[in-house]
Amino acid sequence: MPDTERIAEVSPTLFTAMQRCGLAVHLSRTHRWRQGSSSSNPPARLGTAVHRVLGWVSTDQRTELGPSEFEAAVRQRWHDEVALEEKAAAASIGESYFGPAVGWPGYATTEERLVIEAGWLAAEVSNSIGIERWVERPLSSNAPPMRGTPDLVLLSDVGARVVEFKSGTVAPEDVKPAGRFGLQVLMYAAMVRQHGIPVIAGEIRPIGRARLPVEVTDGAIEEACASVLAALDDFNSAVDEGETVRLARPSDRSCGYCPHILGCPAIWAGGTNELNDLQVLEGTVERVQQAQVGSVAVELEATAGTRLGVVTITGLDPRRLRDAASLQPGEQVRVSGLRLRAGGIGLSAPPGAWVQLARTSGEGIDT
Ligand code: SF4
Repeated sequence: MPDTERIAEVSPTLFTAMQRCGLAVHLSRTHRWRQGSSSSNPPARLGTAVHRVLGWVSTDQRTELGPSEFEAAVRQRWHDEVALEEKAAAASIGESYFGPAVGWPGYATTEERLVIEAGWLAAEVSNSIGIERWVERPLSSNAPPMRGTPDLVLLSDVGARVVEFKSGTVAPEDVKPAGRFGLQVLMYAAMVRQHGIPVIAGEIRPIGRARLPVEVTDGAIEEACASVLAALDDFNSAVDEGETVRLARPSDRSCGYCPHILGCPAIWAGGTNELNDLQVLEGTVERVQQAQVGSVAVELEATAGTRLGVVTITGLDPRRLRDAASLQPGEQVRVSGLRLRAGGIGLSAPPGAWVQLARTSGEGIDT
């Protein structure tokens, strides 16, 4: 087994991804290793743009600007950063489906929340006399092997506070010590501690919303480190044994934006029970109809996935799904990202969902 498939050290972001679905992490790593590239998705790309803007606010206080000028500067920076993400997405075969960034789910809300958060952060920075700031400073640790760049570490005479910004939804359980973001803060706390600096607090900041404290104690840090070691061991054992399918954690949340769903061995071996409203189908095309301008409807005899038998799929956009326009009766396809239509008859490709479609052969996906 190539060493590239094992994980030697883990970042908090990678650890969260491993917890969400270890199989998706494995598939992304092997895809990147073979193809030299990997796919992202709109929420992740908007989150990246948010982090870059807030990093800029943390380091460049723009104290000469009045409130409206500052807001205009933040919006301009946001648009510049999003343009970079939009360009990268357009260059990715899978992500080109999403089109211009203004149509990405949550685009407008994220911008408005970012403007609010940037204002709060700028005020905090200009008032924090005697506080040293580490802005996205790379940190690492040997035991467990970890590496990462916390968004912000605030250092005072009494110790450090670790701050993480989040552009998406944060639930109360996420900031508990075993929650996905609580664990991230504790991993960063462990890395800060390696510098001989005590960590006295942690904070998750869902942008533009109330800040959520993370309880940081030595015991909680030790438990987080033990979780990291256990997860690394579990992942690498599965790789060594060629049993990475056991790392799969199918769910609506994990799979809805997963670039591997059409070829996922867990999903197509019947692991669809946890998908809730998310619909995936494999079957034979029976009929294809240009339902209206820019939309294709397909009747499918489904043999695998979340529905079996004859299913009508509406709303497939051939500008985004190149294969949709050329489908022919008799062809085998897989489709993901569908939802039940209102009234429960048939499935549709709703706005904001990531619909993927590919012809299949006896061996799997033709891409
Ligand atoms: S489709 Fe779901 S189960 Fe399969 S790799 Fe992606 S996230 Fe994991």
